[in-house]
Amino acid sequence: MTRTITVLPGDGIGPEVTESAVRVLKSIFKRFHHDVRFIEKRIGGAAIDQDGTPLPRETVEQCESSDAILLGAVGGPEWDKQSMDVRPEQGLLGIRKALGLFANLRPVKAFAPLIDASPLKRSYVEQVDFVIVRELTGGLYFGKPSERRGRNHEQVVDTLAYSKNEIERVVEKAFQFAEKRRKKLVSVDKANVLESSRMWREVVNEAAERHPEVEAGHMLVDSTAMQLIINPAQFDVIVTENMFGDILSDEASVIAGSLGMLPSASLRTDKVGLYEPVHGSAPDIAGQGKANPLAAILSGALLLRYSFDMDREAGLIEEAVQEVLERGYHTADLKISGSKAQSLSTTEMTDRVIDVIDEKCSVTEKKNR
Ligand code: NAD
Repeated sequence: MTRTITVLPGDGIGPEVTESAVRVLKSIFKRFHHDVRFIEKRIGGAAIDQDGTPLPRETVEQCESSDAILLGAVGGPEWDKQSMDVRPEQGLLGIRKALGLFANLRPVKAFAPLIDASPLKRSYVEQVDFVIVRELTGGLYFGKPSERRGRNHEQVVDTLAYSKNEIERVVEKAFQFAEKRRKKLVSVDKANVLESSRMWREVVNEAAERHPEVEAGHMLVDSTAMQLIINPAQFDVIVTENMFGDILSDEASVIAGSLGMLPSASLRTDKVGLYEPVHGSAPDIAGQGKANPLAAILSGALLLRYSFDMDREAGLIEEAVQEVLERGYHTADLKISGSKAQSLSTTEMTDRVIDVIDEKCSVTEKKNR
């Protein structure tokens, strides 16, 4: 069976970091004899320049017929003056919507060599390993204009609306993740104020009965914002509404010490998913070989795990990234010091990851002989 990955490099450092992720994935597919083809399409500013739209129909059609999508980043100052519907970000929002990707998954993990780059104390960060599951296609950001969103001179309205089914499917996904992890789930809401949060709680309680092995609890969003700073290691899986998730996942992203390390996945009920680094297009360093490719490479690992069920291969990439950092290799954004520390370009960092994957595979092959 041939699988297809659509690659959407996008803008700024997007093409550099997706190239790195594709190289790492290709090395894995070669080693493990998996038949996977890559097809590249345009999105964001690059598509505006070539096609006059941030999300060409051809890109959507290609993504719809693929098993997974790997995206770089979109945006940059050259498109900031465009009208709102031809902005690069519309490409990203549009593709998530077109594919019905309702669950956004952001893992936050402390890599040992980077702990001192976190703004939090080492003792708070050491054991951090959690995921935030954010509802992505409903809630406060999707009130329909005229019905639920709008303004006149005197009044303005945004609406936080969900169908029960929209809550159920993302909550179910979060419980499934919790089952495969440390079996702890915290649902975040504002149930002391919002009716939508009260329904959210009911759905979580119903799901908890179907998943008795998962220890499930509720936390108010304001309290969660505090707990992420004073005791982030307590969390395993957090599930929450779109806007709460947006804010909490950005807060959580600083815990790991660098934006260049954080992958993400946007998923739906079947296996199709879109994988991208959390960072943006970093126009300040684009084209200079300075971009840290590890978030994109780790997004590739998530792709293997969630779209292709290749847990072993995904784990190998994650171990290789850890090992490369432990050997002192880093890109300019990562604050690693000490005698072993060596600052590398995007391509060199990617080479090191592939070298470690090769080393690890060779050791296993020798053992199996
Ligand atoms: P950014 O994430 O692009 O950059 C923030 C800072 O982090 C910059 O100093 C940048 O150099 C650095 N940085 C980011 N990724 C890095 C990496 N992999 N390696 C090394 N350094 C890295 O955020 P921004 O500056 O707020 O936004 C720049 C553009 O990106 C804007 O047009 C914005 O709209 C867009 N953006 C896109 C996405 C996306 O495509 N998902 C997300 C956020 C921002």
